[in-house]
Amino acid sequence: MTAAPKAETRLIERLPDVRGRYIENAPLARNTWFRTGGQVEVMFRPADHEDLAAFLAARPADVPVTVIGVGSNLLVRDGGVPGVVLRLGRSFASIDIDGSTVKAGAGAFDLKVALTCQNAGVAGLEFLSGIPGTIGGALRMNAGAWGREMKDVTIAAEALDGEGRPHALGPAELGFGYRRSGVPEDWVFTAAVLEGSLGDVKEIARLMGEIASAREASQPLRTRTGGSTFINPPGQQAWKLIERAGCRGLRRGGAVVSEKHCNFLINTGTATADDLEALGEEVRRRVHQETGVWIEWEIRRIGVPAVPSRNGSREARP
Ligand SMILES: Cc1cc2nc3c(=O)[nH]c(=O)nc-3n(C[C@H](O)[C@H](O)[C@H](O)COP(=O)(O)OP(=O)(O)OC[C@H]3O[C@@H](n4cnc5c(N)ncnc54)[C@H](O)[C@@H]3O)c2cc1C
Repeated sequence: MTAAPKAETRLIERLPDVRGRYIENAPLARNTWFRTGGQVEVMFRPADHEDLAAFLAARPADVPVTVIGVGSNLLVRDGGVPGVVLRLGRSFASIDIDGSTVKAGAGAFDLKVALTCQNAGVAGLEFLSGIPGTIGGALRMNAGAWGREMKDVTIAAEALDGEGRPHALGPAELGFGYRRSGVPEDWVFTAAVLEGSLGDVKEIARLMGEIASAREASQPLRTRTGGSTFINPPGQQAWKLIERAGCRGLRRGGAVVSEKHCNFLINTGTATADDLEALGEEVRRRVHQETGVWIEWEIRRIGVPAVPSRNGSREARP
């Protein structure tokens, strides 16, 4: 007689007790700007810093953990994300100002930080008003706009490593580069200390208004997008290469290269993550064919594809 196959243990049953919330098979599409993608095995929303640290220290070592902000730079693949996805909630969103120094939790919205600084007369952080993410995502991506980036204003940050140990990081440890930080990928940022300068509230508001108008004119806001898709190669602008390759308006399934800003991909409403990724790879292929340059993804892609892909083989290889 053959033994009955063992029932598989659900991941949630292997995770440590926490005070926050576990959500099984959480759909991630609603957590990203693209509004695409599959489910995560377990989403974890820690109650607070202590709860998060205890979770990281006690979770089984073989369980992958991915932290997300508000998914404004994220393409979640259609087959979903194995393991645990962390989302930092309100207890990580405090914003405290002392003179021109701002301490913001990693879950705070960049726009909220910029507006709080405006009200307190702290200048130099206006660029954050144009970035639709959280401080955690901004640290990871060294987010920037209008001539400034996180590298220019971050004097310190706090993070938990993969085992839940706390780390205080200075600029050297943050290792900021173009749209990246050098901090290990499995570390979770929990807060940033930013330095501005004392300024005039009206002037700060004027500059933020200018940034909003410029964005409105140049970017496909109010669409399902992930912002700039590709990083600018040294000395070049990705959008110009994409235009030269004739990709403006290029379509794949429900995905399209924005007519307004051709470094933005848009989900027209019916795109799968696979459509968006395949379109991005087709853009890379055509840009390489036309210009000899391989442009690289700025958008972070996480999870696994649904099988089979309706777009065939995707990755264009340098
Ligand atoms: C319309 C639009 C306009 C945009 N304009 C700009 C722009 O002008 N400049 C710019 O730089 N970007 C821009 N972006 C991209 C995006 O907003 C930024 O990259 C932003 O910093 C991402 O933050 P997020 O919280 O959404 O992170 P997510 O997109 O959720 O995640 C991005 C990356 O950060 C990591 N991450 C998130 N939180 C943490 C954390 N607490 N600790 C460690 N890692 C973390 C994730 O694992 C992932 O690798 C734009 C996007 C859109 C949709």
